[in-house]
Amino acid sequence: MSTQPDLIVVGAGIAGLVVALEAATAGASVLVLESDDRTGGMLRRGRLAGVDVDLGAESFAKRTDAVPALVADFSLPLDIVSPRSGPAHLVAPRLGGRWSRLPLPRRTVIGIPADPLAADVVAIIGERAARRAAAEVTAAPVDPTASLADVVEERLGAGILHDLIDPLCRSIYSQPAAAVPLPRLHPKMWAALERTGSLLAAAAEVAPNAPGGTAVGGISGGMWRLADAVETLARERGALVRTGVAAQAVRPEGGRVSVRTDAGELHADRVVVASGPRAAAAVLGVPTAEIDEAATAPIQPAVRLLTAAVTAPDLAAEPVGSGVIVSPDARTAAKALTHIDAKWAWARDALPAGTHLVRLSARADEPAGLDSAGAVAREISALTGARVGRDDIGEIVTTRWRDAVVPAESDAWTATVMDAVTHGIHVTGAVAAGTGLASVIPHARALARELFAAHATPDAAASPVRKES
Ligand SMILES: Cc1cc2nc3c(=O)[nH]c(=O)nc-3n(C[C@H](O)[C@H](O)[C@H](O)COP(=O)(O)OP(=O)(O)OC[C@H]3O[C@@H](n4cnc5c(N)ncnc54)[C@H](O)[C@@H]3O)c2cc1C
Repeated sequence: MSTQPDLIVVGAGIAGLVVALEAATAGASVLVLESDDRTGGMLRRGRLAGVDVDLGAESFAKRTDAVPALVADFSLPLDIVSPRSGPAHLVAPRLGGRWSRLPLPRRTVIGIPADPLAADVVAIIGERAARRAAAEVTAAPVDPTASLADVVEERLGAGILHDLIDPLCRSIYSQPAAAVPLPRLHPKMWAALERTGSLLAAAAEVAPNAPGGTAVGGISGGMWRLADAVETLARERGALVRTGVAAQAVRPEGGRVSVRTDAGELHADRVVVASGPRAAAAVLGVPTAEIDEAATAPIQPAVRLLTAAVTAPDLAAEPVGSGVIVSPDARTAAKALTHIDAKWAWARDALPAGTHLVRLSARADEPAGLDSAGAVAREISALTGARVGRDDIGEIVTTRWRDAVVPAESDAWTATVMDAVTHGIHVTGAVAAGTGLASVIPHARALARELFAAHATPDAAASPVRKES
């Protein structure tokens, strides 16, 4: 292994791979270290019913052009596609022990509606809550550190927070609305709110006119192909990628940066840490306790997914479109379901006739609720309304993501990262950019370009604190 590259990247998720590709393209010698035995991080390939599928991220938000631009700029051999099915649904308990399954409103941002009185919003939150939300309280200035829940409750009322915004926040960001401020979740919404002074006006400006309130795209054959293609090109351009090598500590040393790994010590002019949030804190020496203390509500860093091949004939009718998001009040083991072949034509075309792929995202507080084929069948049946028996369940793949949730920014974190950057140590990935490919990719690209533009003055590098695109 080369021990003196220009750049060492810690973590071969999409952020680290993009940095490696940009840096190698700029002519730098690059070494990427990946602790796992495979690359891609949360872009991971699995195989069910003979078809390659995503076990992590399966789409990208179109709020930025990050993915199409990356594909175009590097002529990556990938086809960008749109989902084919109708809107996802929201499942919530109703009086009498029944559940409602209603299409997610068309024009919302994390459930914040452009028009609270739109029929698809009223159907979910009711007339009264809709009228309250429409009478937004705009008097108070918005505190950027206040949680999304506090801002919404004060301005739009508790009803819409409970019935729409909190379930969507939990589903998209794996965190309750009480745990995280709006600027962290959605920088564009925050900027629009600051400019207009109104959540509703901001949503009207930012909301895509798309089913479910989110405009997403995908890659034919799965998002894992994006990491694969970026890595292939980075290697072709000279980057070395080493799997099974964990960085343990990254520290300044004699004008360079030392990376202590379980396979020895390495040095480089610059190091980019592109691991998950907790791993980044660990290698930079920020105590995890400091991170947890900064959270305004408990955070479960782990996410558990089950992807199952299902042969129930009722699913052919795609009863819930691309899937469901489940209200936290519903006593279900899953907080979300994706009907993969209803959502993506490439999956439907690749699957054997009569076989469907369904992905369940387990609730963090429900560790044992989906541990048998029978339980998975019952859950799918309850969430979709389709008849699904245990004999309809084929292969099941379980995936655990242990470092998937970005915690709130702590003082210790900010101080450490600001100090690190003056020594040639930089942070990218979801912990620096915010969750999601639409944020992670532009941040990684900007950082790599800035680093190499600033080659002559290594200290004048990218922004030290979290910067969201
Ligand atoms: C289940 C799930 C579904 C998602 N769905 C979507 C979606 O549909 N759309 C979307 O835009 N986003 C989605 N996301 C979020 C998105 O996947 C992430 O924001 C993004 O992939 C983060 O990329 P990253 O490179 O920052 O981190 P990661 O992908 O976590 O990569 C970090 C890498 O660093 C490695 N590493 C950790 N510690 C060390 C160490 N000490 N030394 C060396 N290597 C180390 C890890 O093994 C990993 O490979 C989803 C996330 C999950 C978990």
